[in-house]
Amino acid sequence: MSIIKNNLYHALTTETKTKPVSAVKLQLDVLDGCKHKCPGCFVHRRGNASDEHQFKDAIKFVDDISSRGILIDEIIIGPTDFLSSENFYDVMPHLVDMINEHSPILAFITTLIDDKLEPWVKWLGKNINLNTEIEIGIAIDPFKFQNQINYAENIKRKLKYISDNVEHDVVYTFLLNIKDYGLDYKNLHDQAVKEFTTTIDFIPSVSRSAKPHVTLATIDKFNEYFDILAAGTRINNIMVDHSHAGMNYTVLNYKKGNWWLSPFLYENMVVEDDIFKIESFDDVEPIMSSQFNRAKGTECETCPMLFSCYNRKIILLRDYLGVDRCIAPKENMINNLFNYDSAAKEMYNWSEYTPEADKNGYRKKFTLADDTDQEELDRIKDIFFTN
Ligand code: SF4
Repeated sequence: MSIIKNNLYHALTTETKTKPVSAVKLQLDVLDGCKHKCPGCFVHRRGNASDEHQFKDAIKFVDDISSRGILIDEIIIGPTDFLSSENFYDVMPHLVDMINEHSPILAFITTLIDDKLEPWVKWLGKNINLNTEIEIGIAIDPFKFQNQINYAENIKRKLKYISDNVEHDVVYTFLLNIKDYGLDYKNLHDQAVKEFTTTIDFIPSVSRSAKPHVTLATIDKFNEYFDILAAGTRINNIMVDHSHAGMNYTVLNYKKGNWWLSPFLYENMVVEDDIFKIESFDDVEPIMSSQFNRAKGTECETCPMLFSCYNRKIILLRDYLGVDRCIAPKENMINNLFNYDSAAKEMYNWSEYTPEADKNGYRKKFTLADDTDQEELDRIKDIFFTN
């Protein structure tokens, strides 16, 4: 069995908790083609593929980061559904050596609707070393997820196929593009935990619209939902955990030879705007620290969440969106200042962690890939539901 059953370990905890080192996550927009229309999706389906020269430069860029002692923790191959992509097998040969060098969490996005898993499974087995952990982000339609038995059954069937045929450790998380669905997201999230032992990440895909007013309106609406949640509500985990995507963790977006810093609001965002653009990793620090000046004289300057928003590049995002007021679910974050990581504390013991051990499969000590250990699965769910 390859599927990690206790994905709550991964999903509930924070990069700063789980990676006591400086780490980078790369979101690579390199895939073209997708035949699905997930609600709230603003991904560009074409024009993402790099040419050979751009791939070589991108790999040099990653080498430079790694040579500074920074862990290449995660690489996301996107932005389209990899099973429905037209160029997956053309693109990946350019990246395989770099992936195997770093053995990161290698993440793919898919609806799992297409019946094309077999060639991918074979490709993984042949090309990617076993210390690389595979993550599958399953993009969902929330209405089908809640109401159509066949929809959930298809996902379960595909996950079983992966579990039976992939040798790597595999985790999966559901992805829901942020939009005003008028749903009770807490119930939806609980359903994912109960039925699939994993969480739902809320994805601000709208940031790809390149329309700041549309992004702002969508985020404002979502904040309204989060701001009235009671303290400690389970769905809060990622956004109000102020160390998630925090100070030692930088996320970079890549497309066609260009790199941008990724702001984090609910999840990592893709904003292809000059305010986030970097030419070299040396640019990260001055852009980050420019936020203190940007915050001066505004609500952010004296806000108790400034350090969290600074680390998540939210002050830059605020300026990109063209306002100088709060754009985050501030009430919720303040309500949860001291109870954000209780689950993480109980779940992890990171003694003897080193970046080298990480490359050599350290995380395996936390994985549970056996359905029969119901007691342990129940323990993890108990931790989740009592925190
Ligand atoms: S964006 Fe909101 S929560 Fe963040 S520092 Fe500014 S006022 Fe505080």
